[in-house]
This record gives sequence, C-alpha cells and structure tokens, in this order.
Amino acid sequence: MNTNIDITIIGSGLTGLTAAFYLKKAGKKIAVLEKNDRTGGVIQTIRKDGFIYEAGPNTGVYSTFELVRLFDDLDGLAIPEFANQKGKQRWIWKSGKWHALPSGLISAVSTPLFTPKDKFRILAEPFRKRGTNPDETVAGLVKRRMGKSYLDYAVDPFISGIYAGYPDQLITRYALPKLYRLEQNYGSFIGGSIKKRKEPKDELTKRATREVFSVKGGLQKLTDAMAGVTGSENIYLNASEIKIDHADTNYVTSFSAHNREYSLHSKYLVTATGAKELKGILKFIEEDELKPVETLPYAKVIQVVAGYRKWNGIPLDAFGGLVPSKEKRKVLGVLFTSSIFNNRAPEGGAVLSVFLGGIKHPELFEKEDDEIQKTVLNEISEMLGQKNSNPDILNIFRYKHAIPQYDITSGERLSAISKIESEHPGLFLGGNIRDGIGMADRVKQGYEIAQQILNEKNR
Ligand SMILES: Cc1cc2nc3c(=O)[nH]c(=O)nc-3n(C[C@H](O)[C@H](O)[C@H](O)COP(=O)(O)OP(=O)(O)OC[C@H]3O[C@@H](n4cnc5c(N)ncnc54)[C@H](O)[C@@H]3O)c2cc1C
Repeated sequence: MNTNIDITIIGSGLTGLTAAFYLKKAGKKIAVLEKNDRTGGVIQTIRKDGFIYEAGPNTGVYSTFELVRLFDDLDGLAIPEFANQKGKQRWIWKSGKWHALPSGLISAVSTPLFTPKDKFRILAEPFRKRGTNPDETVAGLVKRRMGKSYLDYAVDPFISGIYAGYPDQLITRYALPKLYRLEQNYGSFIGGSIKKRKEPKDELTKRATREVFSVKGGLQKLTDAMAGVTGSENIYLNASEIKIDHADTNYVTSFSAHNREYSLHSKYLVTATGAKELKGILKFIEEDELKPVETLPYAKVIQVVAGYRKWNGIPLDAFGGLVPSKEKRKVLGVLFTSSIFNNRAPEGGAVLSVFLGGIKHPELFEKEDDEIQKTVLNEISEMLGQKNSNPDILNIFRYKHAIPQYDITSGERLSAISKIESEHPGLFLGGNIRDGIGMADRVKQGYEIAQQILNEKNR
C-alpha cells in the first residue's frame, strides 16, 4: 500500500505517543510504526490476583508543564495519581539498617548518614564558589559543594535509583541539568532552590508540583489513552523490515506488518526509539555520522516484582529504600509500590519492586531467573524482615538497554544529532538519546517535537 501522510513516527513508547497524540489532535495525517505487538514501550501495567504492578517505570516526577497539560488535554482519559503521605519518605541503607534520607537542613544535620565535618560543609554550601568545569561529573560537583559522605550516602544511591549508574561517570549538565543550572545561575543549591521557589510562574508551571505521580489504575492507562486518540488505524504494530529513504523533501518508509507491505510518504519523520535501534532504521545516514548517537551506553536493569497477600516484615512506611555502593549489597534499591499508591495489593499485603544490575553489576543480567529470585528473596528477608520467603506473585523483567548514561560522550552525541537534523530537514531524532530519561522529560520532548512540526510554515 502506497500512502501519503504528514508525519511518520517510529516507536510507540511515551515519547512517540505524546508526539502522535498532539499531531493527531491538530488534524495531521500520521502513522506510528511499532516493532512490538503492543504500544507503550517500557510502560506496561499488569493486573494479577488482586495486585496491580508495573513491568517498567513505577513512578515519575510531576515536574514539567507539558505533563500537566497532557493530563488536561486527555480530559479524564487518564488521571494522575499522586503519592500517599507515607510514600514520601525515602530510606537509605547504612551499616545494617534503614535511615530516613534528610529532606531539609535540620534533618541533614541530625542524620547519621553524613559525617560531622560534612554537616558543616552542607551548612556552608551557599558560600562556596561556583564550579568552572562545564564537564564536571555529578560526583565531582557534589563532593566539592557538599562533601564525600553526602556523595556516598545521598547522591550515589539517588543516582542508582534514577540512572542505575555511577555519579563519577555522569556529566552534571547533561544528566542533572537542573542541578547544574542551580549552581551556575544562583551560585548555590540551597540558595538557588529557595530563590527559584519564589520566582513568578504561569498557572501550568505552578501545577507542576514535583510530586511523585503514577496514573489511576497504572501507568499504561496513560499510553493506552494516547494510543486510543491516535487511533488503531494509524498505528502499525509488529512493523518489521523498516527501510527509510530520504528523497527530495519526502521520507519514504517501507515496512511490513501482519503480512502486508506498506510504503508511506511523509514530509516529517520522527524517531522515538532508543539509540541502539537507529543504525537499523536510518540507513540513509552515513554510519560515521550516526556513530556518536548509536554508541550511547545504557545500563542493564532487572526489575523483580514481589507481591505478598500478607506482609509480615517491617512496616513499609516509605517510598522505598536505596542502597549506597559502599554498602555492597546485591540490590540497587526497592520501591514499596503499595505504600506509595492505593489499591496496588490486597488489604494487609504488599507489592515491591526490587532493582538489580545497572552499571554497578552488569554481570547479574546474565544470571538465570532462579538465581535472581533467590538473591532477591534473600535480600527482602534480610533487609525488610519478611519471614515468609514465598511471595504470592513474583515476576522478573529484564531490560538490556534500560537507562541511557549521559556521560562524557554526550557533547559529541548532541552535536551529531544537530548536524544530522540540519542535513535532513523534517527529521526529528527523539527518544532518550537526549533531553532526559524520566517520564516527564519524555512527555516534554514528545510535546515539543509536535509543536515544532505544527509551527513549521515552509514545508
Ligand atoms: C526498568 C525501568 C524503570 C524506569 N523507571 C522510571 C521511573 O521510575 N521514573 C521515570 O520517570 N522513568 C523511569 N524509567 C524511564 C522511562 O520509563 C522512560 O524514559 C520512558 O518510558 C521511555 O519512553 P520512550 O518512548 O522514550 O522509549 P520506550 O518506552 O523504550 O519506547 C520506544 C518504543 O520504540 C519501539 N521501537 C524500538 N525500535 C523500533 C523499531 N526499529 N521499529 C519500530 N519500533 C521500534 C519499542 O518497541 C518501544 O515501543 C524507567 C525505565 C526502565 C526501563
């Protein structure tokens, strides 16, 4: 089938679907190509035996106006759900037990997590000089401003929880751009946060409260809602043998799906896959040009979901717990999903998501399920005191290219993306190859790509 459309989007994860949703809403003719048999990408909610749990991300931060606007625009098709009060505190593992992660200056001074010397350092943070190295790592920046114990017992586990990576490999301005800007623009993390809170904001930005969010009924309700508006007639599942040519002002995308061959002609092409897929799709781009993009390193992550009808371990009155590298445990951290959100486990029960692997332990990815299961149940018993070692549900999800690492190669990658896009008008390289790894970042990028296309006058 030969069809002329406005925009072809490759990938139906959160990024691709957000772009598709806004372009469809604006009346454009679009097609979304997805290699899997379902939309949503890594977002997948499972309902089983009274439990609701996620195979991919569990929670996001309600941090951008684009996310607020998306839920507004979905008009009830997906409704954000915010963390319960008890799901707000984070725990850090130190010397055989959990400690609350300080949430303010007073708790930072009284916590056993940091050394007395670093507590003084934290108090003096607003008076420290700005950094001058634009490629300073997260570890370098934090050590300089807050001290080594703050790096080891606050930032290292935080980076494990978000990036499944090491703070000494991530470059602050790419990996944590808001933190970088706090220092560069305001001279201090503490002073900058206070000043930023007082700055005037528009209504949508005010509603981006930075709360932890999911979606009522699970995150997949969000991607399902956007796929629904996009329309199944515009989404090609099981798309294979995708071949794209760039001729004159058109992108010609040929592929097969469900035993039919298609050829789509579009003015715009949006890729919303991970970096590793680009070489296979974008054959019209020189290999050397694409290399800095497709060689982006990713952390491998294993997520083990364990559900208990009867929880008899310690009270899970927190968001979850993170494990600093120094503590040398087998897991990176654990989320207490049923404490964060309502109705995720039967009354009196619990559902947990335990994370393993990452840049710290890539070797775990090669282990058999039996061994992973044994390791996780052992850690749950030792760290959370659950005596009954047999959960009522246990699922193991593996992601070979889970989380991109915005490391020292990021500058070269971003330049390569700009060059490729400027050489190929109408091409947008989206997805987590740039602009952040969190769900709010993905929605922001998908929205921005759609707006750029809608605002272009001359194509
Ligand atoms: C285990 C895990 C836990 C996470 N936890 C959190 C969290 O707690 N909070 C948070 O904010 N973020 C989290 N993230 C990150 C967040 O989930 C992602 O940033 C976001 O969902 C990615 O959306 P995406 O659309 O960019 O990519 P994806 O969801 O990866 O979607 C890409 C899509 O493209 C398709 N595709 C790939 N190649 C092709 C091809 N050749 N042809 C056609 N289709 C193709 C894929 O099948 C997929 O559907 C987590 C990620 C993982 C993996």
